[in-house]
Amino acid sequence: MPSGKGMTNTHAVDAALEAMPYGLCVWSEDLTLQVFNSRYAWTFGLASDALAAGMSLRECCRAVIEAGNYFGYSVDELYEAMIGRFERQKRQEAPTQYEQFLRDRSIRTTYTNRPGVGWLVTHEDITDANDHLTALSKREADLARQAMRFETAVDNMAHGLCMIDADHKLVICNANYANLYELPDHLQRPGTLLTDILDYRFENGMRPKEGPMAFLHRRVRTISEGKRSVDICEFENGQVISVIHQPMEDGGWVETHQDITEQRRSEARIHHLARHDALTDLPNRTLFAEEMAMAESRIRRGEMMAVVCFDLDHFKVINDTLGHAVGDALLQQVAARINYAKREHECAARLGGDEFAILAGPLRSPSDAAALAERLIATISKPMEIEGHRVIIGTSVGVAVAPTDGEDGETLMKNADLALYRAKGDGRGNYRFFEKGMDAAMQRRRAIESGLKLGLIRDEFKLVFQPLMELESNRISCMEALLRWEHPEMGFISPVEFIAVAEEIGFIVQLGEWVLQQACRVAATWPSDIRVAVNLSPVQFKSRRLLESVERALDEAGLPASRLELEITESVLLSDSDQTLETLHTLRAMGIRISMDDFGTGYSSLSYLRAFPFDKIKIDRSFIEDVGSKDANFEIIKAVIALGRSLGMSTTAEGVETEAQLDAVRAHGCDEIQGFLFSRPLPEKDALELVTRLSPRPAIGAQRSYA
Ligand code: C2E
Ligand code: CA
Ligand code: CA
Repeated sequence: MPSGKGMTNTHAVDAALEAMPYGLCVWSEDLTLQVFNSRYAWTFGLASDALAAGMSLRECCRAVIEAGNYFGYSVDELYEAMIGRFERQKRQEAPTQYEQFLRDRSIRTTYTNRPGVGWLVTHEDITDANDHLTALSKREADLARQAMRFETAVDNMAHGLCMIDADHKLVICNANYANLYELPDHLQRPGTLLTDILDYRFENGMRPKEGPMAFLHRRVRTISEGKRSVDICEFENGQVISVIHQPMEDGGWVETHQDITEQRRSEARIHHLARHDALTDLPNRTLFAEEMAMAESRIRRGEMMAVVCFDLDHFKVINDTLGHAVGDALLQQVAARINYAKREHECAARLGGDEFAILAGPLRSPSDAAALAERLIATISKPMEIEGHRVIIGTSVGVAVAPTDGEDGETLMKNADLALYRAKGDGRGNYRFFEKGMDAAMQRRRAIESGLKLGLIRDEFKLVFQPLMELESNRISCMEALLRWEHPEMGFISPVEFIAVAEEIGFIVQLGEWVLQQACRVAATWPSDIRVAVNLSPVQFKSRRLLESVERALDEAGLPASRLELEITESVLLSDSDQTLETLHTLRAMGIRISMDDFGTGYSSLSYLRAFPFDKIKIDRSFIEDVGSKDANFEIIKAVIALGRSLGMSTTAEGVETEAQLDAVRAHGCDEIQGFLFSRPLPEKDALELVTRLSPRPAIGAQRSYA
């Protein structure tokens, strides 16, 4: 390899020169090439022998230009430039460096001036280093861009974000995180200790509801578990924050913090709405059922509880007459009174309409429940002032006590309902405890309710006829039509039972019309001096169809009105309206006779006798029953008979079963008797036979019992 032979010849120096990773040349002060290595020639694309020690600068410039370097430069121009460089370098001690492109390579050239020696010039190929550098700076730029993107993303996140390292120091947090906890600037800096942040949060109004210690314990557990987790943190100031914890591989973690206070509030609102009645804000059926389910376990543990069901008496009337606004306001006032009557922790619910229930307990004894029922009845029935109306409403209450009357919610509710039903049946405004058998009674009632209509279609109803005997003439004056129902499964059902049900469900109107028709039809087959008596229910009486159906029954049967007697009870006159009296007068004007049935069983029987001119008073069986005994009620019977006489009304003694009773009522001047002594109610055929056989004038002494 060529080498600076003029300066040294040792092989070691040659080898060192050649081993250098850069091109090197040394120029003497008179600008002659002294030493160079082959890398120097290579730098300019020159063959090794194109240069030689001792060449002048101009010769070298020529070789360099001819090899195609410094495109556009002439040899002279290059030479001048080089001279300038050497001159400048001569005036300064520190080497100068510049980069140039030679043959697509980046070359860093360094000039060093060595006084007394000349110039040392090195050419270092930095292409690869440069490439590396560009790559580096590109990566740096990318990273910076990424970091910027990341920061923008982090700062624009809807949630608060913080990254904590394994030493529990803050790596980064976003603006939302800082805002959420109102962190001052110095606590947002990377490196801040997490405990400092937490301490600040606790002191700055964000104390955890569970207390700082419990809160920290929980957080520490989360961190040590090293798993992703979601935690809901509630603070004393009412704020609720959901924290998602995400561990990182290096022992640190990232958390997002979301303020869910509002969301929680609306969830709570929805939860409340779903479990409360919108009008009264009392718990609704759903919440009541939940409370009940919880109570079941308490009952199983031996606590005594009670389900108290109640509804308002005749609430519908208020709604219908005063309007729904008043009805709603009333329910709200009632709700307030219920809350007042119950104990604070007890659940009082509105189950719908005017139905309410209280889950009461624990009780010391059932009398606690009775006291609650009494309180409810007393507070609810106090007068209310609603939109200028003075309203009084009563309530009926049913009570089922656990565990005696049931251990599960469903049974208790059902039994309390049955008791409520009984309370209503017993005249409303009172309370009843559940009793065994109410269930069966209810089932029976339901069966009757659903069987009535079908019974009429299937022809299950029959009329029987019981004679009324005129004492003076010893002849049958009248036959009372009494309804019979033989249910296909339940067998014989007393009219006392099914007529009450028919009245309650309004079916009595239809059933009563059928009785009227049948009674008139049958009576038309009897001797013309025998009347038929038909019982009318008060419900039937309120129906506008009554007059019309009476007329039609008479017409269809071809029976004169004078052969029909209608028996009504005092309750018809209870609603002593002009309408009632008018109907009664109309019926009477048609020639129909009107009897007062069951006289003496009501509250003010006597006063009703003045309200309407009845044709007949039927003294109730209960007075006749006593006649044989020692505390016999002759005085009452005597008084009634006398009163009837003075008012021009005849009297009939019901339920005469013994000779003694017969003798007694006859002695006191009774006009008629009815009872088993003379005859039980008879089927249509037997009744016909009786009236034809005994007509006219049987001797009552010889014809006692026919039944
Ligand atoms: P009520 O109108 O007082 O009918 C008389 C009831 O007394 C009948 O009972 C009859 O069988 C019974 N009875 C008659 N004599 C004696 C006696 O000597 N001793 C005893 N212990 N009882 C006697 P029944 O047929 O069971 O009817 C009961 C009630 O059912 C009737 O009482 C009446 O209020 C009602 N009812 C019956 N049929 C009808 C009907 O077609 N329409 C209406 N609205 N009610 C009816
Ligand atoms: Ca009767
Ligand atoms: Ca009667």
